[in-house]
Amino acid sequence: MYSKFINFVKETYNTNEFIPLHEPRFIGNEKKYLNECIDSTFVSSVGKFVDLFEDNIAKHTGAKHAIACVNGTAALHIALILSEVKQGDEVITQPLTFIATANAISYTGAKPIFIDVDKNTMGLSPEKLEHFLKNKTKQTPKGCLNIKTGKIIKACIPMHTFGHPAKIDEIKEICDKYKITLIEDAAESLGSYYKGQHTGTFGTFGTLSFNGNKTITTGGGGMILTNDTELAKKAKHLTTQAKVPHKWEYVHDFIGYNYRLPNINAALGVAQLEQLPKYLKNKKQLAEKYKELFKNIDIQFISEPENSQSNYWLNSILLKNREERDKFLKQTNEKGVMTRPVWELMNKLEMFKNCQTENIENAEWFADRVVNIPSSVII
Ligand SMILES: *Cc1c(COP(=O)(O)O)cnc(C)c1O
Repeated sequence: MYSKFINFVKETYNTNEFIPLHEPRFIGNEKKYLNECIDSTFVSSVGKFVDLFEDNIAKHTGAKHAIACVNGTAALHIALILSEVKQGDEVITQPLTFIATANAISYTGAKPIFIDVDKNTMGLSPEKLEHFLKNKTKQTPKGCLNIKTGKIIKACIPMHTFGHPAKIDEIKEICDKYKITLIEDAAESLGSYYKGQHTGTFGTFGTLSFNGNKTITTGGGGMILTNDTELAKKAKHLTTQAKVPHKWEYVHDFIGYNYRLPNINAALGVAQLEQLPKYLKNKKQLAEKYKELFKNIDIQFISEPENSQSNYWLNSILLKNREERDKFLKQTNEKGVMTRPVWELMNKLEMFKNCQTENIENAEWFADRVVNIPSSVII
């Protein structure tokens, strides 16, 4: 029944073997820079590739500062600490996200509050956010008080789902109004723009991921973006065991973290970033082809939302209901074409089922219908 799709994917990737959802491509200077890095002996947490990678990401995104981290989860953790999120605080996020968002919140001792996503973007809904803040919180000298729990809501982490930008300008305005720090989880949206501005540069912080399945990869890696020079310095300090710079002495002035990205990973990142414009073009073309295909087989393909330019990290489609979704998943995976549903909603997981969850009808609607389809760069 879904053979048109299955055949299309096999023809597009020109193979009869298993087709994964998203695999990395190493078609540029990756080996050259890795060799250079090894020859230099600087394979660990200092070296020219780390600096270069940070500079290039800053240039690419338009963020004033970029601080490399071991992974995207660590980047989120540091952003939360620097937003002064502490034990007993609360942080708003969406239930439709990868576990890393909710885990990072938990590392600080804070609890997530789950607010619904937008029907057009799959990112946090500005309307639902405002509705919650207006009706269920009040401003106090300590910050935005959650009337139900008596806790302070310190931060808000929207996520740019599958690379499609959330309505981030509206979200920012609401966060400013209610004195909540905005951290954008842009792990999936390197190369995605909202109204011409790169995602991850609207909030006080934005975070990226370079995990193996993301648009570009460093093996494992992440980045903190910020326009605040003081916070950037603190981020670098915290990620390097809070060591006070000195040629030979070991003095540390804070409980820090070993979260720095090794130079060898950064070398891979520098080479990968050179390929990004080509990847983005390639991914956009694939999305256009998928759009045509699905038009003909009466399945809705999810296109980039209004006012935005998506990186189309993971292409996604909407099946009619959960039953159809499961049928599609079974048929395609059995034929060696990898497809996946969205993540189990965060509020349904054992660790987070007791967290405050508002009306999340849109997230549930998407969870029943969305399927991700193969999206690797075509070579
Ligand atoms: C990939 C991802 C992260 C970070 O993951 P790491 O594997 O730690 O780099 C965070 N949030 C979302 C939504 C992600 O997809």
